[in-house]
Amino acid sequence: TESVERHSFGAEVGRLLDLVVHALYSEREIFLRELVANAADAVDRRRFEALTNPDLSLPDAPRVRVVPDKAARTLTISDNGIGMDKAELAQHLGTIARSGTLAFTRAMAESQASDKPSLIGQFGVGFYSAFMVAERVEVTSRRAGQQEAWAWASEGRGEYTLAPATREEAGTDIVLHMKADAEEFLEPIRLQTIIRKWADHITLPIMVVKDGEEQAANEGTALWRKPKSEITEEAYADFHRHLGHVFDTPWATLHWRAEGTLEFTALLFIPGMKPFTPVEEARESRLRLHVRRMFITDEAALLPPWLRFVTGVVDTEDLPLNVSREMLQATPVLARIRRAVTARVLSELKTRAKDAEAYTPFWENFGATLKEGVWEDAEHRTELAGLLRFRSSAQEGWTSLANYVARMKDGQQEIYFLVGDDAAALAKSPQLEGFRARGLEVLLLSDPIDAFWPERLASFEGKALRSITQGQVDLSEHKVEGEPAPDLAALLPLLREALKEDVAAVEETAQLVDSVAVLAAQAGAPDLQMQRMMRRAGR
Ligand code: ADP
Ligand code: MG
Repeated sequence: TESVERHSFGAEVGRLLDLVVHALYSEREIFLRELVANAADAVDRRRFEALTNPDLSLPDAPRVRVVPDKAARTLTISDNGIGMDKAELAQHLGTIARSGTLAFTRAMAESQASDKPSLIGQFGVGFYSAFMVAERVEVTSRRAGQQEAWAWASEGRGEYTLAPATREEAGTDIVLHMKADAEEFLEPIRLQTIIRKWADHITLPIMVVKDGEEQAANEGTALWRKPKSEITEEAYADFHRHLGHVFDTPWATLHWRAEGTLEFTALLFIPGMKPFTPVEEARESRLRLHVRRMFITDEAALLPPWLRFVTGVVDTEDLPLNVSREMLQATPVLARIRRAVTARVLSELKTRAKDAEAYTPFWENFGATLKEGVWEDAEHRTELAGLLRFRSSAQEGWTSLANYVARMKDGQQEIYFLVGDDAAALAKSPQLEGFRARGLEVLLLSDPIDAFWPERLASFEGKALRSITQGQVDLSEHKVEGEPAPDLAALLPLLREALKEDVAAVEETAQLVDSVAVLAAQAGAPDLQMQRMMRRAGR
């Protein structure tokens, strides 16, 4: 009809569809996980928006229905969630919202076959996995609070259509016209098994229609509410994978119940690997806040940004079920939970840091993020300093500030460090010569954030942190064996004359042994690495 609008997917979506459909063939069942998760998210969002807009409030029985129809060879997933209007259909199902195809393609190439399915969720392209099993997908949706409905349809080949439609209530139906080789997904038993496997943690009932009757396929138990003794390592790891759309085994699982003035249950994970999340992604912690099991929001920033790699759930009794966004911002309860949860994560890290070998993978994955806390969080700065690890000019592996201080030479007053882009290159830097010759250890810092935080920390256990490329380090306490230093009295004026305005000063230094000259920043001026970064930023 005339009212049907044709739109083409962006080139990105086209390529991505191809990738999703072909690379994941052996794991096709995860399309159901993705569509059910979207439906459950939609119900959660409606519940949350209804708190401030009662017009949107949920029907009595929020649920997701999965309806196979063998005769028509269709599978329908329906929810009574928030729904999508016309613009949202085009936006969410016609473009790639969160991250580019390029990053996704790269992650797909780099990961093992068994890990690929979780990348779909991680990159926010779950909806497109429907095309693994369907030759045509029709979405009918009505946004809560609106009267008109819209139908989106596509065969997954370059274009989709949008047309006005009708739907009795708000929510979304996704109708999959199954491919001939995907009929197994029309068997109710098979559908129930898949849902139990992938979606058991969803607390919303997921109904599978079998012989005209609805049966709940998920148990809907909130894992974190079970006693620890009843939860296996594998169940914890599964839940972690569901939460983070990841495939690793958690490096740490923290599950505890706070009782007393503040009541909450927390189940947190520190991942065993770094997510493929693109760098431009937000810095906020996405811990999930639940009130009496019910999901409220993942935007309550329950941990500081420098702990944003921690995933999990905090479920409290201390907020009302109908807590609104405004209330979340104002309530002191959240601030107190935040403090308690942060303290618990830090104390766990402190304990685990005692085992150097076990701590290393954590440090290599998330150390740079933790350093952001030294820069921006005065309250936790000192505590965080104890968790930092460094490469060093004196030994292999990672060292802590405490170990460095214990190794300091008699008469050494400061903790020396050198900042650059690359630890291996730093280890060969001529800047280290004078220190090596005197048996003085220098920490080698090569994360981008390292240009910033040392100035804020300033000292550790009473020893000042000292960049060796900022002003001259006084090495007179430490004699060096070998030839006496050459007399430079005649050379220095000539160099000053030759370099003129290009440098602020030419000075003799004890920091070199074999090399003729190095650059240094003036004392009090930005350090060398900071100057390099400023130049790169075009300042
Ligand atoms: P993600 O869920 O990671 O954002 P998806 O590809 O699974 O990525 O879905 C894209 C977007 O489409 C969702 O973020 C949501 O806004 C919208 N969407 C998908 N399914 C539904 C649904 N059943 N109800 C409402 N919105 C939906
Ligand atoms: Mg999704």
